[in-house]
Amino acid sequence: MTAFWTEADYDDHELVQLVRDPKSGLTAIIALHSTHLGPGAGGTRFWHYAEPEAAMRDALRLSRGMSFKNAMAGLPMGGGKAVILADENRTKTPEMLAAFADAVEALGGQYVTAEDVGISEADMAAVAQRTQYVSGLPVDGEDAAGGDPGPFTALGIFLGIKAAVKHKLGKDSMEGVHVAIQGTGSVGGGVARLLAKEGAKLTLSDIHEDRCEALATELGADTAAPDAVMSVACDVFSPNALGAILDDEGVARLDCKIVAGGANNQLKRPEHGPMLAKRGILYAPDYVINAGGIISVTLEYLCRNDGAPCDINEVRKRIALIPGRLEQIWEQSDKTGVSPDQVADKMAKELIGR
Ligand code: NAD
Repeated sequence: MTAFWTEADYDDHELVQLVRDPKSGLTAIIALHSTHLGPGAGGTRFWHYAEPEAAMRDALRLSRGMSFKNAMAGLPMGGGKAVILADENRTKTPEMLAAFADAVEALGGQYVTAEDVGISEADMAAVAQRTQYVSGLPVDGEDAAGGDPGPFTALGIFLGIKAAVKHKLGKDSMEGVHVAIQGTGSVGGGVARLLAKEGAKLTLSDIHEDRCEALATELGADTAAPDAVMSVACDVFSPNALGAILDDEGVARLDCKIVAGGANNQLKRPEHGPMLAKRGILYAPDYVINAGGIISVTLEYLCRNDGAPCDINEVRKRIALIPGRLEQIWEQSDKTGVSPDQVADKMAKELIGR
């Protein structure tokens, strides 16, 4: 048996807890990477893993990612993540969620959970019946922080793309700038709408072809097949679907000047960041550009628990800082020749005292 702290993805995590509740059948892992800046915040993933090792890797990698994301977003939160190991049928019961909620409560606020893949707003509302350490709950009205994070994530990405276009292409306007968007769901669809309003030329791609076609018609955009979108000749490639798309083949296929999108963990391995830089492609580090949603749900949490301001203007004000952070990373990268992903990692590590 290999101990988890000898795993490549173990990065001095402060706490890695196995949660077992035989009565409900719950098996979960809660990982806290860093609480240097505040409670470890990050969603709960409900997923069937072929092997438990894969669940451990996810918990370790994703919680570290949340430390970096929260720190770079200027939030008073550390990084945490939970994974619930689902069976093949993805059976999810109220008893399981209750046992999970009790485990979160028992950590006394060191970990603040939220939705992730496989966990809905309704699931989180059920968890919130037994613990206060939950964010991403439904909110009343449109003027409050929280609710669906997708539109807030899209806003941050839109602003980040504009900053990248200014930095790399020297353009102040998106008029005629060609952006190829992979994934037109909650985030990618939002980015497409915002870009269309500013006159960008769009190529959209999604495995849900009907939905993609409908959006393309609405926005006057072109479409590309899912296996072709990464090689579309464009100014900006915006990944908003899957992670790990920037691998040896993916980087080689790109025909763009900028990669800027919301998908988590876009770089398959650390060497793919420098590989992009070597090809002269400007990269917007994913966890910096896609922080709009976490900013919104964190303000919702802090508002409920600490009385922090939680109106939508505060969320927008904080999202508006994303382009400045990216600019700082790119300037540093230009000055030192270190790729933007590595500059961002170094900044994030410093912020969390590592
Ligand atoms: P979503 O499920 O609403 O949309 C994803 C879309 O990608 C779907 O329409 C899906 O059909 C499409 N897709 C899947 N495989 C594809 C492929 N091979 N080619 C083209 N399209 C494909 O999810 P979302 O909330 O929009 O999130 C998109 C990405 O952004 C994910 O990686 C997610 O982890 C990340 N992210 C989301 C948020 C958020 O606030 N929702 C925040 C940070 C990061």
